[in-house]
Amino acid sequence: MLYRVEGIVIRSVEYGEGNLIVTLLTGTLGKVGVMVRGAKKTRSRHAAVTQLYTYGEYVYYKSNAGSLGTLNHAELIDAFVGIRGDLRRSAYAAYFAELTDRLVPDGEASDALFEQLKAAYEALAAGKDPAIVGALLELKLFRFAGVAPVTDSCADCGRVPEPEEPSFWSPAAGGLLCARCQARYADRTPMLPGVKKLLPVLQRADLRRLGDVSVKPATRTGLKQALRRWYETHADARLRTRSVLEQIEAVYADEPAPDDAGPDQA
Ligand SMILES: [Zn+2]
Repeated sequence: MLYRVEGIVIRSVEYGEGNLIVTLLTGTLGKVGVMVRGAKKTRSRHAAVTQLYTYGEYVYYKSNAGSLGTLNHAELIDAFVGIRGDLRRSAYAAYFAELTDRLVPDGEASDALFEQLKAAYEALAAGKDPAIVGALLELKLFRFAGVAPVTDSCADCGRVPEPEEPSFWSPAAGGLLCARCQARYADRTPMLPGVKKLLPVLQRADLRRLGDVSVKPATRTGLKQALRRWYETHADARLRTRSVLEQIEAVYADEPAPDDAGPDQA
């Protein structure tokens, strides 16, 4: 049977002599594995459409439900060229792909999630703050994988902490902790007020409508640490692309982004 589907390449693995197996995230079919014969050969007409985080329309043949598809034809829709010349954005883009591959279970499809991943790449290509785009996508993927943190009330007692009340983050407890409950969880860490305010906003936000969010460096760092600890507790997998990203971020940390001087609007 012939399938025609829009997808984004989230994984690309060499297979045999010059072939690739690409994994696409699609809206209607979830993750789809497709063999691309001769993709690694020079002048392959499929070279462009098999690059990681390429958005295209793919036509493939598949003989039965369990088998791998074979690519017949593909049309490039968006290569997200704004990402590819930039080391830091490229590292984020590769991380988004690997994270999506890890957190989306086989056989589960969501148009909404596909639209969010596409919007994440569009936002990266458009020059939006990659840390904010990344945090948003992580929160969408956590929800899809059934491991969403509680961010707007205490994960233990359910109470909404007072605005000035010290709050804490505990992946073991399930997210935010109020000042009364925090002592019961050994993994708790204090939460910056900016992170406490930002997390529920990001969790509800739609990546397709992401404006220019300006966040203080300390808030950005606190946000990344909170989500990283969440991932390590609830998803338990080493991501190769995250190590690369962190090495690149360590270099960029000495060069504040232009918006770092701005107010924390979150
Ligand atoms: Zn509580």
